[in-house]
Amino acid sequence: MTDIVYLNGKFMPIDEAYVPVLDRGFIFGDGVYEVVPVYSKHPFRLAEHLRRLQYSLDKVRISNPHSDAEWTQLVNDIVQRNDGDDQSVYFQVTRGVAKRDHAFPKGVTPTVFMMSNPLVTPSPALVESGVACVSAEDYRWLNCDIKSVSLLGNCLLRQLSADVGATETILFRDGKLTEASSSNVFIVKNGVVLTPPKDNFVLPGITYDVVLEIARTREFEVEVRAVTEAEVRGADEIWVTSSTKEVLAVTTLDGKPVGDGRPGALFRRMHALYQQFKQDHMRQAA
Ligand code: PMP
Repeated sequence: MTDIVYLNGKFMPIDEAYVPVLDRGFIFGDGVYEVVPVYSKHPFRLAEHLRRLQYSLDKVRISNPHSDAEWTQLVNDIVQRNDGDDQSVYFQVTRGVAKRDHAFPKGVTPTVFMMSNPLVTPSPALVESGVACVSAEDYRWLNCDIKSVSLLGNCLLRQLSADVGATETILFRDGKLTEASSSNVFIVKNGVVLTPPKDNFVLPGITYDVVLEIARTREFEVEVRAVTEAEVRGADEIWVTSSTKEVLAVTTLDGKPVGDGRPGALFRRMHALYQQFKQDHMRQAA
């Protein structure tokens, strides 16, 4: 079946969706986006994704073209129009189409695009084995809290891991852990779960919040604070989190084993609790 997408008020097959070349998303990467995982046709944490969208839009001074009720309707519509119970809904808002000029154009209508892909979460084998990651200096800009479509830095950094067949690039800025190229990062040391706070150096991950929520509810010992590169390199466990990766154990970093080189005990517990959380909050509602 053809993918059905949404563009500026209309649903259509993806092959029919075109954006003018002067769209500022194309020319400047001037836009923001969201990715919402959908389980059993139910969008996960949609209110939180819409709040983050509003935050990103406010930061780049694009007015939100839709109310939360309208966004909710659009997301549900695209889910119904596409195959599969589990989907990954992508949507973006760019500043719109205008003659090329860095300064914001006046009176343009933002471009709204939405698509859905099958949600591919890590296979049981990958959960069992863990993944390899490499590290790099985080040279991105200082507004990584904005979920901007300007992802060149993230793409270049991600490619460093892709080049060696690894899953993610874990980033350090001035000797401190920030995040990975498209995930947040947690470490475990001596039974304590550590992760950096939400600031301008990291994307405020929805999965990050879920993992912290589960950790606190289940009385894991948790510290949200600056994490040094040395702490990451000496960690017993490293996890990466995102809407599509959920929680994944990192078992090698730059070719060296993390802990004993296998997914750790706290990872196993968190992974099981995350699956349970999904089951309780999403599947049963279906
Ligand atoms: N950091 C970056 C840079 C990301 O691109 C993402 C999402 N792909 C995340 C963190 C994780 O965010 P979420 O849990 O909302 O998917």
